[in-house]
This record gives sequence, structure tokens and C-alpha cells, in this order.
Amino acid sequence: MAKPGGARREAPGSEPRRVFMIASEAAPFAKTGGLADVLGGLPPALARLGWEVTVALPRYRGVAAGALVDHFPVEVGGYTREVGFFDAPLADGAHALLVDCPELYDRETFYGVADTGYPDNPRRFAMLVRAALEFLARSGAGSSLVHAHDWQAGLAPVYLKTLYATHPVIGGAPTVFTIHNLAYQGVFEPAWLPRLDLPWDLFTIDGLEYWGRISFLKAGIDANLITTVSPKYAEEIQTPEFGCGFEGILRRRAGDLVGILNGIDTTQWDPAHDRFLPEPYDADDLSGKVAAKKAVLAAYDLPADDQTMARPLVAMISRMIDQKGFDLLASIAYELPRVEATLVVLGTGDARYQDLWKRLAALYPSRIGARIGFNEALAHLIEAGADIFLMPSRFEPCGLNQMYSLRYGAVPVVRGVGGLNDTVRDYVPGDPKSTGFVFHEYSGDALLGALQRALALYGEPLPWRALQAAGMRQDNSWDRSAREYVKIYERAIKSRGAVG
Ligand code: ADP
Repeated sequence: MAKPGGARREAPGSEPRRVFMIASEAAPFAKTGGLADVLGGLPPALARLGWEVTVALPRYRGVAAGALVDHFPVEVGGYTREVGFFDAPLADGAHALLVDCPELYDRETFYGVADTGYPDNPRRFAMLVRAALEFLARSGAGSSLVHAHDWQAGLAPVYLKTLYATHPVIGGAPTVFTIHNLAYQGVFEPAWLPRLDLPWDLFTIDGLEYWGRISFLKAGIDANLITTVSPKYAEEIQTPEFGCGFEGILRRRAGDLVGILNGIDTTQWDPAHDRFLPEPYDADDLSGKVAAKKAVLAAYDLPADDQTMARPLVAMISRMIDQKGFDLLASIAYELPRVEATLVVLGTGDARYQDLWKRLAALYPSRIGARIGFNEALAHLIEAGADIFLMPSRFEPCGLNQMYSLRYGAVPVVRGVGGLNDTVRDYVPGDPKSTGFVFHEYSGDALLGALQRALALYGEPLPWRALQAAGMRQDNSWDRSAREYVKIYERAIKSRGAVG
């Protein structure tokens, strides 16, 4: 990136490519779901392609990583705090920048209590974006582009267009905004506008206004290019069924909206080298799954006799909410113990679903196991021990667990929405590309039908083994996704002209 007044003009394409990401979560520092996995996996993959990557995120309670590299006061709408910046290396040369402002981020949870966000969330995430952009501006090096993720980082394109429009380092920086889940829209009272340093003239239908309030997600959609996490979800969110009220806004940006499937971390999720498994295995020899299945049954206090071992083990690891199909499962709850399978569930979420699954496990102690909680080690073990993995989502922007399942030989049974549609291919006898079972109608019967098809094929070892092997060999790596992101970055840079 040529400095202003720099003596030597470098050949086009020889400048370092720098992407500055802003997000509210990134593994391994802060994780509640798939967003963190993306921010943990994509930056190293981009770094392997020669990009310099920084991910700015809050330094929440309990994060001790990183070395203090700078601190200075940051102001958002008259609220000024001394902010610390901690640099923590990620894999392959990428970096995390942990933004430290204890009054805002040193709290029990990331976003709020139960279903209620913290009342000062607009300030908390505006501060994240402001502090991150200030750091970038002061670093002097600028960036080829800014890549913001989800509503928490949604103000980045707007701040760049307003407060920093003429800034010598970051003014005019191209922006990419990624929607990981359209259901979370960051909607707040318009009275926040001046407290976020945003002018009232943004309170219009073409600005941040959303049904009389303001939306940080809508602010993000103002970026030069928008991506979402699967090609199918990119189509779906332009329809009333999946658009959550944003379908019109997104349809207007259809030409700038691209779906890129997430990858999975194939070093963390590899049955041949997974420290959480009793025995390693791979696509050529799946015998190690037996020990994992025994260990899962033991972890759930389920019998592990020959009969149970012969019966397929069906698993779910999920947030227990309607989006993930828990209402659908509830509608067939008392038929589930009657299918020829053992069922284990790991998750946390709505109390009514937690209670239902605890009740089912108590009623059918030899058929159903329920574990309420977040448990990374058990999640790995379940993927290895399961024969079948269920994801009956109402909608699923991308979904990671079905990709882990494919890699672990746990055949996915999924609803054909979003990333589930793009990663799992419905079983057709004789089709070597089939990897799982797909149903479409959002109904308990359709789910049961797909599950029954899977259970029937489980009884035929040869095609079952072929189905498992096809899934295990599918390339869902971050390297594949990163190549797609680079295309988008190049397009954004071209459309705006690189700055720096
Ligand atoms: P979402 O981000 O919508 O929750 P994804 O399938 O994209 O769904 O990602 C979920 C991530 O969180 C996966 O890495 C999954 O293994 C993990 N996960 C979800 N619930 C649990 C749990 N109870 N214990 C361990 N890991 C979990």
C-alpha cells in the first residue's frame, strides 16, 4: 500500500493485501456460536493466501490473552473511556486485536441476560467499531479493506462514510459486511443516534431507519459488498419467508450480495487426530467409531449392551431454540422413543426445550440421553460416536455441525435450507455423491420420514459405508472458503480503489 508521497510506485498487485475485520466473537477468545468459529478459522486461511489479517473484538471477562500494544481515549457520543488494545497472534500470521474497555465488556455474558440484551448494547458495539477504526487510523498503515461481521459491527461502513469520510488513512476504505444470521438485527430506539455520533439525516428509509427505529444490521448492509454464509441462504433472505423483514432491502442489493459457505477447522475437527476421541479413525477405516459410540453411551448413562451398540445412535448438538427445529422435535417427542435408535442431545437454550428433553431422558432412560450445557469435549466425542446426526432447522444460514458430522462419518439428516442444502446431498441409491438425507417440509412427519429412510439404510452396511465415506471426503476446509472471500475482497477493492 503506497504511503502518501511515497517515492516508489510499486507494481499493481505487489502491495500487501490487508483486511481489518471487526466482530463481536472470535475463537478461541470468545465464543457463543458459529460466528466465533468463522472468525477463528477464516483469518488464518486468508493469511495462508498471503493476506495480512487483523480481527478486532471485545476483550470480554476472562480473556487474558494478548500483549498491550496501545491505549488511548475513545469517545462515542460524549462517552469517553481509556481503551486498551491487546494484540494476540492467531495461527498462520493472523492477529487478534482485543479491545479492552472493562466498563463495557467485563460482564457476566457477552450480550445480555436471558433473552434481554444489555440496555447499553448500542454503545458497547459502537465503541467496539470506533475503537477499532481509531486504532487502524492511528496505525498509519491503513487497510485494503474493512470487513465487518453481523449487526455488532454494522456501524463500520456508516462511520467510514461519515466520521472518517475524509480521513487520510482510512477514508474511503472499501467495506464488506457479512451476515451470519439475519434474525439478529440490532434494532434500537432512534434516540441513540446522537449518542452514537450519527446525524439525524440518517434516520430515513435509505439510511438506518427500520420501522421507526434504527437497525445496526441495516447500517452494515450499506457496505460496498455484502456476503452471507451460504449460496442458498443468500437466495432465501431475499424472500419473505426467510428475510425477517429485510427481504426488500436485500433485494435492492441483490447484485452485491454473495453467498460463501463457511469452512470448518480441519485441524480441530479431524477424527484421525482428535484428542477427545478414544481411538482415531479415517474414511478408509471407521472401526474407531465403535469405541467413541461406547464412550458416548457411557457419558449419558445409557446401556452399552450388544443390542444398543447394534442400534444406530442419533445425535444432536445444538442451541435448543425454535430456529434449530426444537419445536418440530417437540411435536413428535413421544414418537421418538419408538424409532429403532438411541438418541442423545447436547445443548442449552429455551427452558421449555431443556425441560422437555430432561423429561424424555427420565422417561426413557435406555433410549434417550439429554445433557444440558456447553461441552466442547463431549461435542467431539458425540460426532465420532454418532451414526446419524439430526439438524431439522427452520432456517440455517450455514451450520457447522453438519460439516463436522460429514467429516466424522455421522450421516446428517437435515432440512434442506441454507447451508444444510448446500453441504448435504440427499441419498439416491447408486449416486456416489450422496452424503445424507434431506427433507423439505417443516413438519414432524417429514423429519420422521427422512430419519426412517436413514435408519433403513443403516441396515445395509455397504451403501451406508459408501455414504459415510463420501461425506468424510468432502472438502469443507477454510482454504476453499478463503479463496472465495479473496475474490470478494478484490472486487470490493476494485470498486472503490485501494486506500492507504
Ligand atoms: P449456531 O452458530 O447457529 O449455533 P452452528 O452449527 O453454525 O450453529 O455452530 C454451532 C457451534 O457451536 C458448533 O461449533 C457446535 O459444535 C457448537 N455447539 C453448539 N452447542 C453446543 C454445546 N451445547 N456444546 C458444545 N458445542 C456446542
